[in-house]
This record gives sequence, C-alpha cells and structure tokens, in this order.
Amino acid sequence: DSKGAIHKEQLDELACTSYPPCMKEIHNSLRRNHHLRYGARRQYGQFLKEAGLPMEEQLQFLKEEFTKKIDSDKFDRQYGYDIRYIYGKEGRRAEMSGMACATIILKSQPGPLDCHGCPFAHMETALLTQRLKNCDISDVEVENIVGFSKTRQYDRACTRYFEAVHKMEDGALGQMITHPNQYLKLSQEIYAG
Ligand code: SF4
Repeated sequence: DSKGAIHKEQLDELACTSYPPCMKEIHNSLRRNHHLRYGARRQYGQFLKEAGLPMEEQLQFLKEEFTKKIDSDKFDRQYGYDIRYIYGKEGRRAEMSGMACATIILKSQPGPLDCHGCPFAHMETALLTQRLKNCDISDVEVENIVGFSKTRQYDRACTRYFEAVHKMEDGALGQMITHPNQYLKLSQEIYAG
C-alpha cells in the first residue's frame, strides 16, 4: 500500500521527470486548458490514486485548475463524485486501481476532443514525433520509438522511451512497460538512487 506516497505539489515535477507519455499528455492538457473530459479524469485519476495521492489532494488539485474556468460550486456538483468514486467513497464503494496499458490501449479509445489514451497507440505520427522531440531524445531514438509505435509494438515503444529519457542503454531496463504505475515507480526508484 502506497497511500500518501505523493503530494499534489510534486505533480508538475513528476510529470516532467517520471510520468509515462500518456499521463504527461493529460497533465499538460489540464494545466493548459484548466479542464479534463471524463476519459482523462478517469485515466489520470486512477493513476494518481494508485500512485498514492490522497483523495483530498486530488480533489484540490483538480479544483484549483477547473475553477480557473468554472465556479467552485459547479466543480463540487459535477466532478467531486467521480473523484470520490475512484477512491471507493461513492457508488459501489470499491477502490479503483490504475489502468494497465492494455486497458488504456484497447478499452479507452479517445475521441477527437480527448487527451487520454496511449500516445503510442492513439496519437497521430506527426504529433507523437513532435512530443518525443521535446523530450531531449536523439533523432535516431525518436525514429526508433515512432517505428515501434507504427508497428503496434506499444510496449516496446514505451520501454525504449523510458530508457531514452533516463539515459539508459537499449534493453537496460530489463523488463517491458505494461502499466503506467509501473513506469512511474521504476522512474522514481531511479531518481531515489
Ligand atoms: Fe502509457 Fe502504457 Fe502507453 Fe506507455 S504504453 S504511454 S504507460 S499507456
């Protein structure tokens, strides 16, 4: 159990250093647009819960952004329930875990206005390439990763991305990324030394 393992003040830094591309995309979209649609709130919310962000902090974190555009009452009415639901405090009262890559890729197809999903599976090649180039990854590596994405080897694309941003040799991770929370945890371990 990793409850309380992370706090909302750390999220910008973690997004930069330790988030997989799927969660980075949602986090940045939230900061930019002060809103997230349902699919993104679910995907990111479950990830943050599993990462150990306490419920009250997730509520505050989203509220701080959303209330740049809507008032606080409206936030509580429209979005509070879904966040509490993830933590097992509403509805069927079961705590939810983070979605695995397979679920995100196969069961959570984003629409044109959505920012959730898996960038390796769902993002246009040109935009994916641009995002990867912003990550301090060499052009050769970007090509490799985009190549894996094009041939639908999303786990290899994400694993190679992990190695590239952590300045590791090809294959040095020694395991495949199959879950965004696994990605986060492995990255946190690297930075914790
Ligand atoms: Fe996220 Fe998994 Fe896609 Fe990586 S492969 S970006 S962890 S959904």
